[in-house]
Amino acid sequence: MTSADELALLRADVDDLTAAIEYLTSANLGGTGEGDLTVPSRWSWRHADPRTVAQLWEELISWVNWLVPRYELTGEAAPIAPCWYRHPVAVEELTALMASWQAAYQGRPETPRDDLIAWHDRWLWPTIDRLQARAGWRGCIDHKQHQDRILRSWDPDPDMAATVAGWTGPPRDTAV
Ligand SMILES: [Zn+2]
Repeated sequence: MTSADELALLRADVDDLTAAIEYLTSANLGGTGEGDLTVPSRWSWRHADPRTVAQLWEELISWVNWLVPRYELTGEAAPIAPCWYRHPVAVEELTALMASWQAAYQGRPETPRDDLIAWHDRWLWPTIDRLQARAGWRGCIDHKQHQDRILRSWDPDPDMAATVAGWTGPPRDTAV
């Protein structure tokens, strides 16, 4: 191996390490919050403040606008309705899919790995298939425009709090 080859390998190692540091910094791994289970994920809509909501929308819309034409998700077999952003299940699932794509595709740019095919096999196609049944956009696709759905109201059982307050542990076997 020549010194030029060694230099090239060292350069590749430095690039990999630099990318790893950038990934760890951007993902907030190893810094404040990592390992602290009280700190919500930045992809959590439930916990997002207005600024994070705006960032999430910008990021997700951009990603979906790339995903749909790239994977030709406009055909009959696996359509993503243009009104996907009006469907909460789709927003949550596509956000999760985007986060898994980022985990697969970002960082370690020079390292061959199977995350990329695993993302397609485990996450992309199962999510797209699942959305056809779960997103609630069949009527929108059929009518070629968003259709508001009529959902049943759902309220927590009013007896729940009092009932669980009386539960002090798992049921005991009193037969012994
Ligand atoms: Zn719709």
